[in-house]
Amino acid sequence: MSDRYLSSAEIRNRFLAHFEGRGHTVVPSASLLLDDPNLLFVNAGMVPFKPYFLGQESPPFPRATSVQKCVRTLDIEEVGKTTRHGTFFQMNGNFSFGDYFKEGAIQYAWELVTGAQADGGLGFDPDKIWVTVLPEDDEARQLWKSVAGLPEERIQPRGLKDNYWNMGVPGPGGPCSEIYVDRGPEYGPDGGPDADEDRFLEIWNLVFMQEELSAVRAKDDFDIAGPLPSKNIDTGMGLERVAYLLQGKQNLYEIDSVFPVIEKAQELSGKKYGAGSSEGHVDDVRFRVVADHVRSSLMLIGDGVTPGNEGRGYVLRRLLRRAVRNMRLLGYQDPSLPELLPVSRDRMGESYPELVSGWDRIAQVAYAEEEAFRKTLQAGTQIFDLAASEVKKSGASTIAGDKAFALHDTYGFPIDLTLEMAAEAGLSVDEPGFRQLMGEQRERAKADARAKKGQHADTGVYRTILDSNGPTEWLAYETLETESRPLALLREGVAVPALANGEVGELVLDRTPFYAESGGQAADAGVIEFEGGTLEVLDVQRPVRGLVVHQVRVVDGELVSTGSTGGPTLHARVDPEWRTGARQAHSGTHVIHAALREVLGPTALQSGSYNRPGYLRLDFGWLNALSPDQVHEIEHVANNALRADLPVGWDYMTLSQAKEWGALALFGETYDDQKVRVVEIGGPWSRELCGGTHVDHSSQIGTIVVTGESSVGSGNRRIEALTGVEGFSYLARERDVVNQLSTLLKTQPDDIVGRVGDLVERLKQSEKEIEKVRLAQLLSGGAALAEGAVDVNGVRLVAQRLDGASGGDVRTLATDVRARLTGDTPAAVVLVGAADGKAAIVAALNDAAQARGLAAGDLVRAAAPFLDGKGGGKADLAQGGGTDVSRIDEALAAVTAAVASA
Ligand code: ATP
Ligand code: MG
Repeated sequence: MSDRYLSSAEIRNRFLAHFEGRGHTVVPSASLLLDDPNLLFVNAGMVPFKPYFLGQESPPFPRATSVQKCVRTLDIEEVGKTTRHGTFFQMNGNFSFGDYFKEGAIQYAWELVTGAQADGGLGFDPDKIWVTVLPEDDEARQLWKSVAGLPEERIQPRGLKDNYWNMGVPGPGGPCSEIYVDRGPEYGPDGGPDADEDRFLEIWNLVFMQEELSAVRAKDDFDIAGPLPSKNIDTGMGLERVAYLLQGKQNLYEIDSVFPVIEKAQELSGKKYGAGSSEGHVDDVRFRVVADHVRSSLMLIGDGVTPGNEGRGYVLRRLLRRAVRNMRLLGYQDPSLPELLPVSRDRMGESYPELVSGWDRIAQVAYAEEEAFRKTLQAGTQIFDLAASEVKKSGASTIAGDKAFALHDTYGFPIDLTLEMAAEAGLSVDEPGFRQLMGEQRERAKADARAKKGQHADTGVYRTILDSNGPTEWLAYETLETESRPLALLREGVAVPALANGEVGELVLDRTPFYAESGGQAADAGVIEFEGGTLEVLDVQRPVRGLVVHQVRVVDGELVSTGSTGGPTLHARVDPEWRTGARQAHSGTHVIHAALREVLGPTALQSGSYNRPGYLRLDFGWLNALSPDQVHEIEHVANNALRADLPVGWDYMTLSQAKEWGALALFGETYDDQKVRVVEIGGPWSRELCGGTHVDHSSQIGTIVVTGESSVGSGNRRIEALTGVEGFSYLARERDVVNQLSTLLKTQPDDIVGRVGDLVERLKQSEKEIEKVRLAQLLSGGAALAEGAVDVNGVRLVAQRLDGASGGDVRTLATDVRARLTGDTPAAVVLVGAADGKAAIVAALNDAAQARGLAAGDLVRAAAPFLDGKGGGKADLAQGGGTDVSRIDEALAAVTAAVASA
């Protein structure tokens, strides 16, 4: 179909060169994690250009081209089953922002697709090309004829579902035209793309944005408001699909950038890919899933995703685990990622050098997840098999929802895995039942969290206050004190006319200088005064956007709120010392974050934080415990930033401006308006989206003392630190301890460590000495005990109590005494030790006693009931223990009686 093999890299280069030569600016691929609230991952080449298409920003170039990394989670089930779907793939695109339109797009595409390879084209046979157009789009149909010379019969009309593009929201929309390559009659029936999408393979989709949509209900159900003032072009050509055609392969899993993983998997599993049989086909799908998922995981981790139980992390976890499981199904039981992932890196590293430079981290993340999964599998598979066989035995075919839930809850078995394993066992799962239980659990967790925060689940009452009064005038950035009026007074969520002395309630003011807890920063403390009374502010929250609510206790007088008629004038005063501490701690948090990233690298990203005056903690995505050296280094970098007295500033800007600035934003955080607030310390050194209160210069933080580093759940670490006065007093306390030690040890502070080391060593030596002495003393009693043997029924019997002796000692002594009682006369030694409220008994018999028919085990058993214990052993030596030391004499008497009657 085409003259020669082109590698993936070559196709990519030709694409970019083709469009660069036609006036397009080459734009590098954006991260898969580009922030877009509607998308988990970038799933098309146009995503990074959305603000231009939506008219939110003016494009810096009229034309652009890119090769964009894409992940489509919806295609996960298709992988390996169709010939053309990867979870990760690269979309080659060309874009026009109000510049060329349909004619240009069709011409450029045609030139590249059918252009001779010798001239930089892809060299497809023009007779094998089919296109589809929207039936109404006469313009496109005519252009395919006039520009490309395509005959009418290879221009197929297809309806809105296939050939109309929109974003699912009001905004631009327009018809598409897709380009297909006919792979030949051996791959399916005649009739064009409409008849068979496997024979006729879609390689390229051209989108003509020409309309403004006012409402979008479905792909094929929307309202057109009118024509777009400036028309745009957005196209996407699947790099992998073109590669599989130009490399003469059967599907996209066999191309140069994917197949080497299949080869490695064959080698590991000993199974053959493409074996042909129907069983072989099942295995082929597994091979393809492995190769696809390994590559997608590599790309996701490369862009900073770590495995987790939600969102992006869950997708990655699912991909990694499916890859590992499919290797097991292929018969390979050992850890497989350390074998496969490097193969994928070697193929992808050329286009994405960050995979090579970040390799250590990528490998660590992936391998750790496989380890964790292997443990999960081990524990859960047995439980699953048991559940499955019970279901089968009972003649049913559905695994109950509570079983699936238990697997999830107790063994960490994701539902997908349960579903897959059930399907393999020919069973189904009561999925609705499972989801219901999951939902209930989530509700419980939410209710718990609310209860802990002391918040009311119902925000209706706050909404009513907001609706009738408007948003609180919020002055936390400007002032610490202000006059204000009470707008509403609540107790336990219900409006009340007054709060008596000592009572706690919630107060809404028309304006306030108090910072409400948010962005990890604790609420301000302070007082609200009025004539004849004072309120202490216990907490400040924003239960609904725009409304600040103070939780207060009346410490003096009585507050009477008269609502609309206006209550007393109040004087709200934030405790200035508190606020200073809060500013230090919050700026300190940013400094620690920046220091963390400087020391550990840019993937150490904050996942949560909390700060209050004097204290801060920051959680971040990281796999391993930090070494003491790393912690030290972070503290060092942070304090250097304080000494450098970096200026702290903030500004409002659009989210995309903020991103351009490199400001760090936490995924999932929401910000009030279109404009976001960016706080920077030392210019680009630290830039974060943040609504908190901050110092003016970094030196005002005083000091940052890191006090701890710990784990908070898998893949997350926590660093804790003290700031300002708290930091200094912590150091002062430490110095105090050092001084006391120095006095105590009569040595200089610098010598303390050496001195304590010596002491510890000496202590160990002394303990050893003491142990030796004690043992010698114990054994020295052996001779006396042997001498004290009494004759009972012709047996020399030593039955004694040893206070302070524990099990090991008793045994040592008993065998020592027995050794002194050799000869032909039977001898029995029974010693009962009593130490720490526990009894230990040991019986030891010489050979003659055993010949007489006595057994050590019997003697222990005779005594044990009196010790509230048990024991046993052989004829020559037996031991036991008990928890009652009050009847040892009776126990020894029982032993004597047993010997006497033997
Ligand atoms: P299909 O119907 O084959 O799933 P699509 O209509 O979803 O494709 P588009 O959204 O138009 O595809 O994407 C543009 C191009 O990206 C496609 O023409 C194709 O070449 C490529 N593409 C889309 N999805 C995948 C995928 N999962 N794996 C590889 N390439 C893909
Ligand atoms: Mg698709």
